[in-house]
Amino acid sequence: MKVIKFGGSSMADAKQFNKVANIVLSDPERRVVVVSAPGKRGENDTKVTDLLIALAEAVRDNGDIGDAVDNVVTRFESIAKDLKLDRKIIAAIRADIIARIARRSDDYIKFLDSMKAAGEDNTAKLMAAYLQSRGCKAEYVDPKDAGLFLTKEFGNAQVLPRSYELLKKLLKRDAIIVFPGFFGYSEEGDIVTFSRGGSDVTGGILAAALGADVYENFTDVDFVYAANPHIIDKPFPIPLFTYEEMRELSYGGFSVLHEEALAPVYSLGIPVNIRNTNNPDAPGTFIVPDNKAPKSTFPVVGIAADKGFMTIHVYKYMMNREIGFGRRLLQILEEEGVSYEHTPSGIDSISIIVRESNCPIEKQERIVEKINATLGVNSVHIVRDQAIVMLVGRGMTKSVGIAARAAEAFNRAGININMINQGSSEVSIMFGVDGGDAKAAVKALYEEFFD
Ligand code: ASP
Repeated sequence: MKVIKFGGSSMADAKQFNKVANIVLSDPERRVVVVSAPGKRGENDTKVTDLLIALAEAVRDNGDIGDAVDNVVTRFESIAKDLKLDRKIIAAIRADIIARIARRSDDYIKFLDSMKAAGEDNTAKLMAAYLQSRGCKAEYVDPKDAGLFLTKEFGNAQVLPRSYELLKKLLKRDAIIVFPGFFGYSEEGDIVTFSRGGSDVTGGILAAALGADVYENFTDVDFVYAANPHIIDKPFPIPLFTYEEMRELSYGGFSVLHEEALAPVYSLGIPVNIRNTNNPDAPGTFIVPDNKAPKSTFPVVGIAADKGFMTIHVYKYMMNREIGFGRRLLQILEEEGVSYEHTPSGIDSISIIVRESNCPIEKQERIVEKINATLGVNSVHIVRDQAIVMLVGRGMTKSVGIAARAAEAFNRAGININMINQGSSEVSIMFGVDGGDAKAAVKALYEEFFD
């Protein structure tokens, strides 16, 4: 059986709903359908999730919420109308939005999650109704009834292990299951969402829980490409990545799949197939376990870049002789609730790379103060607006001269490398550059390895 997930662009309007239904109905193995909230219909459109965030903000600020409610409901209304669904469905969606506002918690982050979840929840209800109207036995499933329990980290939740056993019971249902992506419930019964783009994670969890043969992830591209098509004109399409390669690329900024979506299927080896709702005959890109991938003929299969990082540079003479220095330093970050991404180090220096969004200025100031007060360092300084650029490919393992070629490409483009980091698996090399150099860095590496 297949778990099949559709992203926001696949749910953007009635025409897209029709394509989705055709895809679902064309293969009896497609038993579980995960949906995102309607995305943009064009360049200047707004995603329903963003409309819901705007509505939550209007409620918080005690503004006039009439327009904000209408903006959300109208999106669903036009889909339901064009699909000729019963008008009662729209009344139910409006009532649902109003009820969420009425039940709101004083804790804004908690309230925001319950509003964001309304996008996926109502889309799943609409999709189930549409499939039924086409004569198909389909049923909307509430993540709470199905047992999708998450950590109580609003806006950034993770699945709780006991969910897998509970979700397995969905296999007994004799209907196509339509499951809303992006959210689940905490043990206390609060709605909690994953981070943005998290419907991919829901799909991965369901594929793992139900032991799917494949997790099909439908989006709006025929393939995953070797680099961002907004930076590189017509980049190379890549028919197959390994889990490890995709994880590195998603982490490095490939937005085609959420960076945590592969975690649930990883240990089970379930293949993921990225496909195009607008061209369902294209085979798409497969993401497979490392031991199932053929040998790569290219050293590099992808180049990703992501901005929004900062570096905490710490220097202390004779640092290498001081037992426990690294632990005490990282403990300061832990006390401030800041997770770190990388820690390249020298004999007397260590740099900690952190996402800027995890470390607002107030936290940064407290961290610097604590480092100075407790670690006796010679200097600590922060550089914000940094980017990371990832060069990824299983073919790089044991291939000589890749880092040299990359450094030469940066040199030709006049880009300063602030940091280089290579993990022991040698599947990726990460470069730290100034935020403003990120695009040029991708171009330089692409020319070197693909042109
Ligand atoms: N609708 C949510 C978002 O825009 C989640 C998703 O689409 O996966 O982030």
